[in-house]
Amino acid sequence: MELSHEDYMKVALTLAKEAAAAGEVPVGCVIVHQGQIIGRGRNRREEDHDALAHAELLAIREACQHLGGWRLADCRLYVTLEPCPMCAGGIISARIPEVFYGAKDSGIGACGSILNLFEEGFRHRPKLRGGILQEACTEELSRFFQTLRKFPEEGEDLKLL
Ligand SMILES: [Zn+2]
Repeated sequence: MELSHEDYMKVALTLAKEAAAAGEVPVGCVIVHQGQIIGRGRNRREEDHDALAHAELLAIREACQHLGGWRLADCRLYVTLEPCPMCAGGIISARIPEVFYGAKDSGIGACGSILNLFEEGFRHRPKLRGGILQEACTEELSRFFQTLRKFPEEGEDLKLL
């Protein structure tokens, strides 16, 4: 049985919550192939001391290992926060055809907020849809920053990453 976009985003949100519990900015990601989740990732920058340890890249790596190749054709990627330029680049490199995200990132978002890397004329242009469970994804981030007392003043950008 094929699950809905919201169902897959809920799994990504569970991973985001797991990141928050570990003291990481809550971002979670899953990659789906033929209805099955074959890649999972969550932000691990603090724990791994790794600027590259974003949820999307970790999910892409796991999905590539699962399929035994670097091309993630016929896959869909779900991530709770709009991808940054690095992750949007990783999505293009992995040839992922469809991307769904939850919250917008006005600080570093590269899928519509600052620019849209998927519309820049690269050979591979993933289909993009934002706003999946947007409220829940944004709420998860807001709660995290409130807890840290780092939540920006009203009117300020989130500047998450
Ligand atoms: Zn990223």
